[in-house]
Amino acid sequence: MTNSGTLYIVPTPIGNLSDISARALDILNHVDMIAAEDTRHTSRLLSHYSITTSTISMHDHNEAARSTQLSAKLLSGQNIALVSDAGTPLISDPGFIFVRDCREKNIPVIALPGPCALTTALSASGLPTDKFTFHGFLPVKQQAKAEALSSLKNSGCTTVFYEAPRRVRDTIMACHENLQVDHEIVLAKEISKTFETYKQGSAQSILEWLEADPVHQKGEFVLMVYCPNNLTKDGAPQEAIALLELLSKELPLKKAAGITAAHYGLKKNALYELGLSLKQE
Ligand code: SAM
Repeated sequence: MTNSGTLYIVPTPIGNLSDISARALDILNHVDMIAAEDTRHTSRLLSHYSITTSTISMHDHNEAARSTQLSAKLLSGQNIALVSDAGTPLISDPGFIFVRDCREKNIPVIALPGPCALTTALSASGLPTDKFTFHGFLPVKQQAKAEALSSLKNSGCTTVFYEAPRRVRDTIMACHENLQVDHEIVLAKEISKTFETYKQGSAQSILEWLEADPVHQKGEFVLMVYCPNNLTKDGAPQEAIALLELLSKELPLKKAAGITAAHYGLKKNALYELGLSLKQE
């Protein structure tokens, strides 16, 4: 551990080459080696900043073997920087196996703060940020995608996805079909690039925008979905409780609970108990 070098996790720009910190450039200049997701891609960034440090590839298909090789170099005292094609390594990018391996071998790992499409998009979205979840890319298969989106109902938080241009229209269509009506969507496109755009509204309105011009479907996207939580502490939707209260003024509670349960697909007994507790309030 004492003679070991350090692994630096270095975020790189997601569009605008100026979005790299002075510290990141300093580290890229001074480490012994840069492990890059795609060395040709990273060479453009390095040559822009006249950095001549040697690079070695580390991607999804060679990460385990490379990790063994590079952790040995780190243990021998070399310093290594890890970069991905864009943004923060490990965030929907390679690096997890390597970082875990280094941690297990007590090799110091230092991550630099920097560009990340997730946090950048979220901070400008206007959606609640006090609680959010990040799901990376949605499943490609329709059924799995529909299930993932349906599970967001009543989440009460903002959920962030990355999305590819060839799938963005289908994904927004799936949002339209599987989310509750009061969801809010923000689609961030081409962050930090010339045609940066944030579109907000319902899935329907964003679908119309995407279909209005094929150019709208081109580029890189972050999809953010906010689903309000309409469930009470008893797990019933607010509207179901409103109906239960209304009906129970005119009908016996058992009957009111039965009708409400049938209408909202809920459990009759649970609604009956809920109705009793409401009467006692
Ligand atoms: N590690 C990266 C990060 O920190 O954001 C993400 C890598 S992931 C393989 C690539 C995805 O990130 C893209 O498909 C897109 O969803 C999102 N993304 C990256 N750059 C973006 C940009 N400039 N504008 C919008 N989304 C972007």
